[in-house]
Formats: sequence, C-alpha cells, structure tokens
Amino acid sequence: MYSRKEQYEVINNIRVKDDETKRINCPFCGGKYTLTVTKRDGSLIWNCYKASCSASGGKRVGYGLDAIKNKFAGKTTDKTGIRIHPIPNVNAAVENHEHVLDYIQANNCTKALEDDAVKMSYDPEKDRVLFWMNNNQGAVGRALKTNIKPKWLSYGDTTGILAVGNSDTAIVVEDAASACAVYATGVYTGVALLGTNVSPAQRIQLSHYQKLIICLDKDASKKAIKLARSLNGYVDATVCFIQEDFKYMSPTSIMETLNEGARISGH
Ligand SMILES: [Zn+2]
Repeated sequence: MYSRKEQYEVINNIRVKDDETKRINCPFCGGKYTLTVTKRDGSLIWNCYKASCSASGGKRVGYGLDAIKNKFAGKTTDKTGIRIHPIPNVNAAVENHEHVLDYIQANNCTKALEDDAVKMSYDPEKDRVLFWMNNNQGAVGRALKTNIKPKWLSYGDTTGILAVGNSDTAIVVEDAASACAVYATGVYTGVALLGTNVSPAQRIQLSHYQKLIICLDKDASKKAIKLARSLNGYVDATVCFIQEDFKYMSPTSIMETLNEGARISGH
C-alpha cells in the first residue's frame, strides 16, 4: 500500500493538461488502463478502478501554465544529465529502413518488434532507432552510426522503467536493446532503468515483479549491488554478473548465463 505522498510523486510525472483525463496502466497495481488521472480546476485527481488497488487521491497543483513553468523551469536535462529532446515530428516505421532493421536484428530485438512487445520507430532527422516507454509518452533513441555521442538520447517523458514482456520475473539490464533480447527468451521480462539511481516511480514499478535479477557486467558491479540494496524490502532482487551484453547474445545463451548465475548464487 502506497501513501498519498508516494502516489503523488508518481502521478506528478504523468503529463496531463488542464481539463484532460488520461487513462493509463496503473503504476501501483499493474492494471491495464485502470488508472485515470484528471486535471480539473487546478487539482490533480487520480483513481484506479481495480477493486484490489488502493490508488486514489487528489492534490492541488495550480493551473497549467504555472505547473508547466515550475516543472520545466530551466530544465533541459534529466536526472542522468542526458539532454531531453522533444518527441520527433517524424516517426518512421522501422520496416521501411534497412539499416534500422539491421540494427534491430544484430541486437536481438526482432522478436520484440514482431510481437509488438515495445513500440519502435525511426527518427530520420537524428538517424536513431527509438524504443518507446512510459505509455508511449517518451522514448530512448539509439544512434545508428558508430561514434555518435551520446549513444542513447531521451525523447519526451522517459519517467519510469522500460519494460519488455509480461513475465513476473524481470531481468534488469543496461539498455533498451538488451531488454528486448531478454524478452526473446520467452521466459523473462527485460527491464532497462536508463540511469544510475532508482527513482520512487521506478521502485514502485519494480516492486510489482515477483523476482528481479540484475544483470550488469563486472565494470558495473558496484552499481548492480547498490541497485539490489536499494530495492531490498520491496522486491526479491539478486545480482548476476555477465561477461557480455545480452543484446549480443542469442536467447539460448542468455538462458544458459542466467542458469549458470543462479547456480553460483545458490538459488
Ligand atoms: Zn491500480
């Protein structure tokens, strides 16, 4: 059960205009499109229609312009220091661009694309493949040419986790492509956190999984352990160090790596 304050911290990140109601997947119980968020008369009101879910509340937030000014005052970078870019005007279908499909195939994202497990599109202006998240309010875009920095760019509102799949055991990985590669196992959900710290919104989303296995390479071992600790008490989280990024591995190799890791940690 989440306090009003915790709920508001999450709801506050959902972009709702004055006199608008949004219906989204409930970040508290995971219900599909069961949460409504309404902004009316300067208040934000939220409610989940699932009987078992306690998410509901309201808070005075002021009127649109003020709220927008406060939220975006001088804010052009997110918490990880990555510059935020608006959602691109042109979102091309990845299927029409061979070099985009090449990237998707080389990084084991084909199954996720075919199953529509995550929305992908192509930004021709920046030559990046986009992986959408946060109820498609934001995306992370991977540069398709080598030596372009940053490799990943945030578009729009990328609050929360990028999850690919519906399994209740999630594998936490470095980036969106690896999350798609995990999905291809057909056994696990792939989750990318897109940053070093876990936000309250992410913690709540992660706590819906029965089990989390944090799979980062040895260079990121401190980060992995810190991550597991910060989730302690919320969800069963273990750490598995990997030699190679999952996006370069076949589903079979990923399964073998995870089974091996499980044996070492004695589960
Ligand atoms: Zn709910």
